[in-house]
Amino acid sequence: AKAEGRGTWRFYEAAMDARAQARRSLQSDLRLALDRREFSLMFQPIIDLATSRVAVVETLLRWTHHGRGPVPPDKFIPLAEETGLIVPIGEWVLRHACEEALHWPAGIRVAVNLSPVQFRDASLLRVVDAALRDSGLPPERLELEITESVFLEADDTVLATLHALRSRGVSFALDDFGTGYSSLSYLRSFPFDKVKIDKSFVHASTGDSGSLAIVRAIIGMANSLGMTVIAEGVETQEQLGLVHAQGCMQVQGYFFSRPLPANGIRDYIDSPSPA
Ligand code: C2E
Ligand code: CA
Ligand code: CA
Ligand code: CA
Repeated sequence: AKAEGRGTWRFYEAAMDARAQARRSLQSDLRLALDRREFSLMFQPIIDLATSRVAVVETLLRWTHHGRGPVPPDKFIPLAEETGLIVPIGEWVLRHACEEALHWPAGIRVAVNLSPVQFRDASLLRVVDAALRDSGLPPERLELEITESVFLEADDTVLATLHALRSRGVSFALDDFGTGYSSLSYLRSFPFDKVKIDKSFVHASTGDSGSLAIVRAIIGMANSLGMTVIAEGVETQEQLGLVHAQGCMQVQGYFFSRPLPANGIRDYIDSPSPA
């Protein structure tokens, strides 16, 4: 039994080694992915319910590994954050998103996700300025999506960067709202233009009255603070009806469109069609 136990232990040890090694190799491939041109961008429309038109387009990063194929963002973004690689990768996303947005009508904004790690990097303000300047995109057409975790380590420089970007005309959406630490005090320290209700609430809201109450509370609070509410992950007519009835004016999700490649979003903007 003792020998068996030791064998089992060795088995786990070997499995852990293999996992650690797989991580290391993914990490070194991530380091090379920019040069190998393995990243691409997908674009998902956000619809304004008052006009039924595209108001914003969210940029979503994709990594197609030369050997493994597509690696999901939920897997490689955390790795990119741990290694700091999200800083150059994020700059690449920002530049390409700004350039792509110039192909859309001027009333449509482009949304870009920013990692908290990018805020800890002193270059962020310069990077955003350079992306706007080099592309020629007006700052008013750029919307940055950040999560409340940015505020976990919010020192004065983070807030100063946020305010500096805002004074240029860039707008801010608080992403994944409701999932995090839910201390609402940062809504006072920084004036968001929008909040995005996390898709988990949108999905649960049709079946569970607790989630519906949360959706209703978020929309009510955001509206009374003068913020626009975006519901993400809207997949069904029922979910759409529900968030709309609660006063949510912008929606995003598979019900309207999955994330599309650059030419797909241009076509969608020209003639929006349900998914
Ligand atoms: P997120 O910012 O919350 O993005 C929304 C996610 O929901 C996207 O997943 C999108 O494809 C997915 N989604 C949209 N509509 C629906 C729907 O109706 N149903 C369902 N089930 N899902 C829907 P994706 O593209 O896999 O991205 C996952 C996360 O990776 C993003 O969550 C974001 O946190 C991160 N991410 C993606 N691109 C970037 C990027 O360029 N920079 C950074 N820092 N993070 C990124
Ligand atoms: Ca987002
Ligand atoms: Ca989100
Ligand atoms: Ca997310």
